[in-house]
Amino acid sequence: MNQELLLQRARHLFDDYLKAHRLRRTPERFAVLETLYRSNEHLDAEKIYQLLRRRRRSISRATVYNTLDLLVKCELALRHQFEPHQARYERAYGARQHDHLICLHCRKVVEFCDPRIHQISTRMGALFDFRIAHHSLILYGYCSDCHGKSAHTESSSNPLLHDLPKSTHR
Ligand SMILES: [Zn+2]
Ligand SMILES: [Zn+2]
Repeated sequence: MNQELLLQRARHLFDDYLKAHRLRRTPERFAVLETLYRSNEHLDAEKIYQLLRRRRRSISRATVYNTLDLLVKCELALRHQFEPHQARYERAYGARQHDHLICLHCRKVVEFCDPRIHQISTRMGALFDFRIAHHSLILYGYCSDCHGKSAHTESSSNPLLHDLPKSTHR
């Protein structure tokens, strides 16, 4: 399905959700949805706000945050916590299941898809009698552009590693 058709359908679903929950169906809310569905990236709220500001000056940060929350609730967007203090978002409707590699140096996000992860999930669900709802697998490292650049000096100033006990990265 092409991007425009996906966006059209997502717009309908969002419209239905807003109607059903008696929420205001404002152009700003649909503009947030569009920004997400026209991008192939994993955007944070600030980036979405800036992209929107370039086109429509009237939107507020609060509207962006509030709309992203709604989009996550109605499962049109996925929220990722790649870094401790920053959430990133991507479109969920029509997207295939995938996991992520994150570069600790340039913050690049790469998607990958491996059917074995689905197999593990199914197997563990059966083994522990869990109904698996979703999963999160993030592999952190250094991309090909970055792994030549002093990874060790970088890690000391890396906010991603700050929450780990010191002994684990010595
Ligand atoms: Zn990198
Ligand atoms: Zn992704």
